[in-house]
Amino acid sequence: MGPSVRFDGRDVILLSSNDYLGLATHPLVIQAAVQATEQYGAGAGASRLICGTLPPHQKLETTLARFKGTDAALVYGSGYLANLGTIPALVEKQGVIFADRLCHASLIDGCRLSGADVRVFRHNDAGHLELLLKRRRVNRPTLIVTDGLFSMDGDLAPLPDLASLAERYGATLYVDDAHGTGVMGATGRGTLEHFHVEDRIPFHMGTLGKALGSSGAYVAGSDEFVRYLINRSRPFMFSTAPAPGSMAAAAAALEIVRTEPDRRTRLWANRHRLDEGLRRLGFRLTATVSPILPVLVGSAEQALTFADALLAQGVFAPAIRPPTVPDATSRIRVTITSEHTAEQIDHALDAFAQAGRTAGLL
Ligand SMILES: *Cc1c(COP(=O)(O)O)cnc(C)c1O
Repeated sequence: MGPSVRFDGRDVILLSSNDYLGLATHPLVIQAAVQATEQYGAGAGASRLICGTLPPHQKLETTLARFKGTDAALVYGSGYLANLGTIPALVEKQGVIFADRLCHASLIDGCRLSGADVRVFRHNDAGHLELLLKRRRVNRPTLIVTDGLFSMDGDLAPLPDLASLAERYGATLYVDDAHGTGVMGATGRGTLEHFHVEDRIPFHMGTLGKALGSSGAYVAGSDEFVRYLINRSRPFMFSTAPAPGSMAAAAAALEIVRTEPDRRTRLWANRHRLDEGLRRLGFRLTATVSPILPVLVGSAEQALTFADALLAQGVFAPAIRPPTVPDATSRIRVTITSEHTAEQIDHALDAFAQAGRTAGLL
C-alpha cells in the first residue's frame, strides 16, 4: 500500500491513511517484520507475564524509552487497549476525570471503565477546564485527559496550558499522542516535543499503528509507573503479547524516524500544497495544523455524496459522520503523507473541485 492503491479494480489516490511517513511499506520495516517472524514465529504464544515477552518486545520498549527520553516504556496490543489499561490504573472510582469533549472513543471508554466521575470540558478550552477544576471537591485523585493531536480535527491540545493547570490544581495530565508520534516536533517525538513540555508531562501514550506503520501502542514514563502498570493494568496482563513481527517493525520504524528526517520535510511540504489548494478552491477546513486536513461538509448525506463523487474522480477519502464526529459536522477527513507526489496532490485537487461542485459545496 502506498499513496496510490487499487480499489474495486481501479487505481485511486489514497487520502485517508494514517501511515503519514510511508513506513508501513518501507523496505527496512518490512524486512524487520519478516526477520523477527522467521526467528520468533507469527505470534507471541502467551501473555507478556506468562512467556509472551520475547526479545523484540524488550528491544522495542528500550528503543521507545530512549526515543521519548523516559526511563521506561510499556507496549500494548493496540492504542485502544492502552487507554483501557492505563486510565483505570491511574484513577479509581473515588476519583474524578476531566476530559476534552472531542477525546478519542478509547479514552472515553477508559474513563468509563475506571468508574470515576467524568466531567467534559469544551474542546481545547483551558479556561473552561479551570472553572471545572475550581468547582471540584478537593482531595480527590484528579486526572485530565486529552488527545495531543485530535484525530478528526487535526488541531493540537494546548498542552502548556493544560500542564500548568495540572500543576496548579494537583492533577495528573494524561495525553494520547496517537497521531503526533513520529510527526510532530522537530525530531518527530510528538506533540509534547512540539510544545517543549516533555519534562512537565510525566507520561503519555502513543500508537505504533499510525506514523510508525506497524500495530500496537506504548505508554512511556518513569520506571515506577511502568512497573505499576505491569502489575495493575488488566489489558496488559490478560491479553496475548503483540506479535514479534509488529514489535520489530515498529523498532525499525523508530530508527527511520530518527535517521530520515527528510520524510517529515516532505510531509510538511505536501501538507502545505494540499491545504493551500483546498482553501484556494473555497473549501472550509477545521483549525488544523497537522497532516489531517478535514474538509467540513455538514450533513451526513452531503458528505456521502461528496465522498462518492471523489471516488468517481479517483480519490479515496471516505466521509466521517456521527457518532465519530458531532452532529452536523460531517466531513471528509483528508490525510496527506510524505510519499504523495506533487502530481498526485494536483490531481487530487482537480478531483476535489469536480466533486465539490457535484455535492453542491462550491
Ligand atoms: C487510533 C487512535 C487510538 C487507537 O489506537 P489503535 O492502536 O488503533 O487501537 C487511540 N487514540 C487515538 C487518539 C487514536 O487516534
